[in-house]
Amino acid sequence: MSVLIDNIGELVTNDEHEGDGLLGIRRDVAMVLEGDRIAWIGPNAQKPPADTRIDAQHRAVLPGFVDSHAHLVFAGDRAAEFGARMAGEPYTGGGIRTTVAATRAASDDELRRNAKRLVDEARRQGTTTIEIKSGYGLNVADEARSLRLAGELTTETTFLGAHVVPAGSDPDAYVELVRTEMLDACAPYAKWVDVFCERGAFDGDQTRAILEAGAKKGLQLRVHANQLTEGPGVRLAVELGAASADHCTHLSDADISALSGSDTVATLLPGAEFSTRSPWPDARRMIDAGVTVALATDCNPGSSYTSSMPFCLALAVRDMRMTPAEAVHAATAGGARALRRDDIGVLRPGARADLIVLDAPSHLHLAYRPGVPLIQNVLHNGVPQ
Ligand SMILES: [Zn+2]
Repeated sequence: MSVLIDNIGELVTNDEHEGDGLLGIRRDVAMVLEGDRIAWIGPNAQKPPADTRIDAQHRAVLPGFVDSHAHLVFAGDRAAEFGARMAGEPYTGGGIRTTVAATRAASDDELRRNAKRLVDEARRQGTTTIEIKSGYGLNVADEARSLRLAGELTTETTFLGAHVVPAGSDPDAYVELVRTEMLDACAPYAKWVDVFCERGAFDGDQTRAILEAGAKKGLQLRVHANQLTEGPGVRLAVELGAASADHCTHLSDADISALSGSDTVATLLPGAEFSTRSPWPDARRMIDAGVTVALATDCNPGSSYTSSMPFCLALAVRDMRMTPAEAVHAATAGGARALRRDDIGVLRPGARADLIVLDAPSHLHLAYRPGVPLIQNVLHNGVPQ
């Protein structure tokens, strides 16, 4: 089955060789999808016939958003905690344990329905790839169950047994459990392993021990790093060759230079700073130093309960001083780099047919018109959603 999308006013290819600027923008083009791949892109006047047609009516077409950081397998919500925080209570990360208790008590079907609801919600807002972490089970059976359920919704599954030390556990004994029995049970369902490296969660030595054990099991690495304090997470992520260091809110000069000379992406999660009323990551400093930046939602019931990439993108432009083009690139190609994928986040022949048509003539409108539902069409694997 082939699909022709014609009358595209502005096409964001994310390929600098194919068009103008960082986003590789082309104008007045058409595109043909064959099955789950892009088959052809060219001038609108030369469009070939296809089985079906979508008339873009001179709107903008972009790669689908790649949300490389989300926590979607959980039960319950923490609206009351959010309310208290907005009334002045500080964020400490301790509320994670509330969600752990609710998640352990939930049935498979409750967890599956809630996660699917959030994936569908993200899809309607233009997300075509989403990473999903465990981390609210924190015992062998519930972590493995979380990853099994996550695997029903995405191939980008991440073992985050080291989210926090569960209530009543000895930290060293828990780290030992995570890197042995829990890892053995979870690795068959996971592509990635992640650790919340932070004061009050896991220190540098514990993080290293877990990540190295994960790598030995064939998992690839990512790290929750430098969210609340200037800890060792970012430098550890770079040293161990992690695909991504996520949060990067508090960075030293040494952290910046480590990232800029590496293949480790800095994944910024402005929904977390928004929802915890925290200082923003210094995106300008990272980009100017040559660091590859991604944007993701960190969707979770505690510190960032948004599934909206357009919302995060608008925050990045308004409050983190990224240009609209940098933010669009970070939310698409940047996310793909953070997941070490080259078939998504880019629109060129051979790439996956994951794309969005905006109800707007330009990518600029995503940040220019915050909070407005601008996602007109979403195609995932070539299939209209
Ligand atoms: Zn997170």
